[in-house]
Amino acid sequence: MFVEYIDRKEVLDSIKDVLRIPSVVSEPLPGKPFGEECAKALEHTLRLAESMGFRAVNLDNKVGYAEYGTGEEMIAVLGHLDVVPAGDNWICEPFDGTVIDGKIYGRGIADDKGPIIGALYALQAVVRSGKPLGRRVRIIFGSDEEVDCTDMSRYLETEEIPAMAFTPDAEYPAIFSEKGILYYTLSKRVKGLVSAHGGEAVNQVPDSAEMTFLSAGKAVTVKSRQGRAAHGSVPQLGINAIDDMVKNLKSMPEYENMDESLKEFIRFYERYYLDDFYGEKVGMAMEAPEVGANSSNVGILFSEDDEIGIKVDFRFISQYQGETEGVERLKKLAEDHGLTLDIYKTRKVVYVPKDSGLIRVLQRVFKRNTGIDMEAVATGGGTYAKFLPNTVAFGPLFPGEEDPIHQPNEYMSEENLFKNIEIMADAIYELANYEKSDG
Ligand SMILES: [Zn+2]
Repeated sequence: MFVEYIDRKEVLDSIKDVLRIPSVVSEPLPGKPFGEECAKALEHTLRLAESMGFRAVNLDNKVGYAEYGTGEEMIAVLGHLDVVPAGDNWICEPFDGTVIDGKIYGRGIADDKGPIIGALYALQAVVRSGKPLGRRVRIIFGSDEEVDCTDMSRYLETEEIPAMAFTPDAEYPAIFSEKGILYYTLSKRVKGLVSAHGGEAVNQVPDSAEMTFLSAGKAVTVKSRQGRAAHGSVPQLGINAIDDMVKNLKSMPEYENMDESLKEFIRFYERYYLDDFYGEKVGMAMEAPEVGANSSNVGILFSEDDEIGIKVDFRFISQYQGETEGVERLKKLAEDHGLTLDIYKTRKVVYVPKDSGLIRVLQRVFKRNTGIDMEAVATGGGTYAKFLPNTVAFGPLFPGEEDPIHQPNEYMSEENLFKNIEIMADAIYELANYEKSDG
């Protein structure tokens, strides 16, 4: 329907321009809260939007948007221009947009520069088609998604809330439910600890762990023998190396002479966390039809001065439990065992009913453009949908497609990039004109 209004060469050139800006969040500079490159990527994108005839607004170099149309209400597409660092093992320059065998390679091509610049071109295609739009359309460009999402807090301070929105920053089909998230630390002052280290990120199952402690005055090291990384929202798919290390420790003769304060922490870990993917041991498990079960992942073991601690990624299906009841339980747990609790990140549950207009429109659009008839899905994920009402994740990865996100050689095929733009154009048009009577 809108495909003839998409200039493929222009889109590709434009996405490459943005991929060439290495917009990894870095040290703040005056007026550039996420560093030079993030500010550059945002400014560049807003100038591009202006050149297409859209109104462009930059909010303190934290977040910006392009807007088109008139009308009381507004619908939006949200995405982000910041990326995670490139890392090693690329087959080409990570910040360039090299095309090999019909695939575009580059950090951010799938997460999320390709999709969100694509959304801008989707809007352009709808405008060029001359079809009327009943609502205004905003394409919102965040710059802090990979770190703290303070961009969305800035948006919410002064900006209009869309009537409906989607974020092409996960997968198809539409994601009607996302679990809420609590990241927390539990730590304890102990004696006889030299060092402890396991895992790289709280939202990952750690694949290695080790600890050095004093046993009868002698330094002894225990290591994990096995571990397998997996995303922290599906800990049952990995092998937790911290669990494995604790099991090894218990079988060592030197464990006997470990300081009692450190033993207390190990016993605490065994009782409340060992081999538990669902928060059962801390009394925070919950399961419901359609949205799945709570999950709990000990992602990091650390030591700092005379403290030892763990960082946990807990994902929940019930906002009350995650916000109120679960937090009370954790406080009590910490108090009862002489631990320090620090809840350092919280994210809300997303739940938009499957029979809502938003989900019905997105599902209809997806089916029309791909021929795939799948029900909307629930995930443990964390997208911008958590910050706005009536907002869900939708795309850009297709069912069964390999997930290249945050990996070396992140790519998207040209075919899928343009399929995404067609789907988004259709979704923008349908949402902007949606009437409740449409069903
Ligand atoms: Zn993303």
